[in-house]
Amino acid sequence: MSHRDRKVVVVGAGAVGTTYIYALLQTGLADEIALIDVNPERVQGEIMDLSHGLPFIPPVTLRAGEYADCADANIIVITAGAKQAPGQSRADLIRQNAQIVRSICGQIGRYPTDAVLVMVTNPVDALTHLAFECLNWPRERVVGSGTVLDSARFKFLLSRHCGIDARNVHAYVIGEHGDSEVAAWSLSHIAGISIEKYCQICQACNCLEPHREIPEPVRDSAYPIIDYKGSTFYGIGLSLARISGAILRDENSVLTVSTLLRGEYGIQDICLSVPCIVGENGVIRIIDVQLAPDEQQALERSAGAIAEILDTVRKQPPSSY
Ligand code: NAD
Repeated sequence: MSHRDRKVVVVGAGAVGTTYIYALLQTGLADEIALIDVNPERVQGEIMDLSHGLPFIPPVTLRAGEYADCADANIIVITAGAKQAPGQSRADLIRQNAQIVRSICGQIGRYPTDAVLVMVTNPVDALTHLAFECLNWPRERVVGSGTVLDSARFKFLLSRHCGIDARNVHAYVIGEHGDSEVAAWSLSHIAGISIEKYCQICQACNCLEPHREIPEPVRDSAYPIIDYKGSTFYGIGLSLARISGAILRDENSVLTVSTLLRGEYGIQDICLSVPCIVGENGVIRIIDVQLAPDEQQALERSAGAIAEILDTVRKQPPSSY
């Protein structure tokens, strides 16, 4: 793609969509960003507010968009829909957000495009699958933000535990972006050695502590944030900027995006997160490796949990969405 071609369409001008745009603007990676929402006044307000920062960042065209913008977009990011209320799980949002995602994909599908679709709306794995079915695009071009955020939370807590720069911690959360997610210790390392071995060398803590103490707060991170301030948006905004960079610059980055598995990891026809190579066309390759037996079982349980969420909307006739 030529430098002038970098166009991003964002559907959903709420906290997540606009924080993502704020993060993306600062990377200078997009030349054009078009924002769409059912609430045009909200779009106008957000565009005006964000535009007042343009003198401080590389040139970009930032404007209210329409679905026709999808035709020549490189990325379409969907952040539209209901968010968790305190006490609600991501899965609880499925009925409401399935209807929204179906109507948005109906609009996007009217415009032939080579864009990569990035689903963010929760429950993200089931909705990535729904978008894939609605759009009928190649599977590599329909991805979910998946556990990119959860992996970042995992890295952050490990980095704090070990007293190491978070960028030097390579750690992955796989499976559902939700309550059944799996901390993949067997794929995680610091300086090329397992976290457990690193802790033995470091000797600053009991080496079993991270295994016992970190996965649960990673999995449950969103709940206290929602209780304290209503929603989460900074971490996901930066995660989306990272995914966008991988696509816009064809970086072939390893990211735990949600993708449709067709036999990889022994899982058939479910969108969930595993380490993937992400570039200009979306998921270039799914890195299919052998997990520890307990992780494999947990991943299969996670796939089952996503299938159940998807079933709740598949059983309903489309007219009732
Ligand atoms: P928000 O309420 O601030 O914004 C949602 C926006 O969607 C609103 O502006 C609303 O007008 C718009 N919208 C609703 N229906 C629409 C439609 N049919 N077409 C276009 N726009 C429509 O919510 P938020 O905090 O921005 O969260 C958005 C979604 O992102 C939620 O589902 C939330 O759970 C999810 N989320 C995902 C992750 C992740 O890691 N995947 C992280 C945080 C939040």
